[in-house]
Amino acid sequence: MVEEAKKKKWKKRNDPVVIYRKWCKTCNICIEMCPKNVFDTDPDGYPIVARGMDCTQCSICWLHCPEFAITSNEK
Ligand code: SF4
Ligand code: SF4
Repeated sequence: MVEEAKKKKWKKRNDPVVIYRKWCKTCNICIEMCPKNVFDTDPDGYPIVARGMDCTQCSICWLHCPEFAITSNEK
């Protein structure tokens, strides 16, 4: 019973930001600037959300992306 209650309380967070690969030029500004180290790079050099739970929606990544390739999923 307690375990069921715990499960219901715990909710997975979907990716807090989205990166449009088509627009991304792999400049890595978002990776460098994210204060929470949310991103890693994939083998092709594109940023991927690796630690989405740490995102604070501070907006730094999407405000500084020169290609407008990042948007929030939560705002
Ligand atoms: S700042 Fe924008 S263009 Fe640069 S790597 Fe991040 S998503 Fe791609
Ligand atoms: S909104 Fe802030 S914390 Fe979240 S991924 Fe972008 S830069 Fe990192």
